[in-house]
Amino acid sequence: MDAMPIQNHLDTTPPLRPRWLSLKRGFRQTCPSCGRGRLFGHFLQVNDACPSCGEELHHQRADDAPAYFTVLITGHVIVLGVLWTEQAFMPPLWLQAALWLPALLLMSLWLLPRIKGALIAYQWAVQMHGFGGIKEEPPRF
Ligand SMILES: [Zn+2]
Repeated sequence: MDAMPIQNHLDTTPPLRPRWLSLKRGFRQTCPSCGRGRLFGHFLQVNDACPSCGEELHHQRADDAPAYFTVLITGHVIVLGVLWTEQAFMPPLWLQAALWLPALLLMSLWLLPRIKGALIAYQWAVQMHGFGGIKEEPPRF
């Protein structure tokens, strides 16, 4: 006899959501629920609800985390590139700046909305901040 999960009719636990699929959809800047609707209305402005399936997205609280992870990743990539270029070719400083400063800017602008989308999708997947239908009380100080 197979072991069946016990379902309690009083269990109010929200259903599990696929985390990796949600992360991929968020990285593509689409709705973590359906994968079709756009997550952002403008560059980093999150839509209140998915335009395709209507999933509420306003519960997100990405705050400074996307900027932190963007700086962490781009900083490591750019510094490694600068050091490798210096060791291999020893170019003048102006050439290093002309090469790596635009690369830093472009990589940051490309990565920031994708990381923000992935973080919001992760919050949706683990049902943080009201994504699970449970209203959170604001912190009391
Ligand atoms: Zn959707």
